[in-house]
Amino acid sequence: MTTRTENEKPAQAAREAMLWIELLLRQFPELLGELAPSRHSPSAPPPDLGVPSAPTGRTRAEREEALRAEQLHGLTPSGPTTAPLRLHVSDAIRDISDGVVELDEAVHDRLRLPRPRRAQVAERLLRVAALLGPAAGDPLLTAHIRDEARRMARRCTRALGAAEPVVRVRGRCPWCGSVSLRAFPARRSVLCVNPACRCTGRDCDCRTDPAHRHAWSEGAWARLAAESGGDLTELTGSTVDSAEREVRR
Ligand SMILES: [Zn+2]
Ligand SMILES: [Zn+2]
Repeated sequence: MTTRTENEKPAQAAREAMLWIELLLRQFPELLGELAPSRHSPSAPPPDLGVPSAPTGRTRAEREEALRAEQLHGLTPSGPTTAPLRLHVSDAIRDISDGVVELDEAVHDRLRLPRPRRAQVAERLLRVAALLGPAAGDPLLTAHIRDEARRMARRCTRALGAAEPVVRVRGRCPWCGSVSLRAFPARRSVLCVNPACRCTGRDCDCRTDPAHRHAWSEGAWARLAAESGGDLTELTGSTVDSAEREVRR
């Protein structure tokens, strides 16, 4: 079990975990909606007539969820109008579905509870949320739930094509001198958003690729703060991917 920050307040991590789970509960159905065929073919069998080869042990709802993901995975054409392949959407659904099962089981295991029964994504998420209380005495577990919920919520946001959060950062870009520094918490990075900005780095794509923006990852923030006339504490704070900021925007 890994965690990003060792010395944070468990109550804060639990709050963040809850907010990320809520976000995921709102976004995941949207992601399933992206996969659903826009209209049903009249000749198609009703959904509850047979998925004969479905693995045993899964609930009907789980099978339907998996089937919907598989249909548009390019394996089965769904009627006369073949829906566009949306691999990134079905990949995200698969990744999040697996992640939620693993998280649910890991939390139960860590709390020495019996293995959780099978359920759909939303039900499992609600179950994990309900265990944040019993998990309160275990900062590692709480942080793990928060980190996993955030990772999956971010995966969902990306697959839905939603814009990622951007936070304005004080100071001037050391390369172009503009007030154009922005923190992108979802990728833990600071970028200069001035399209004309070019650095002198031989390997940096901002010289050759017009779409590339010069970026500073975590190791370069102290130097960036010093050279931009900014503030390292503010800069670091701006790059925290907080659920509170996410639900406010
Ligand atoms: Zn710049
Ligand atoms: Zn550059």
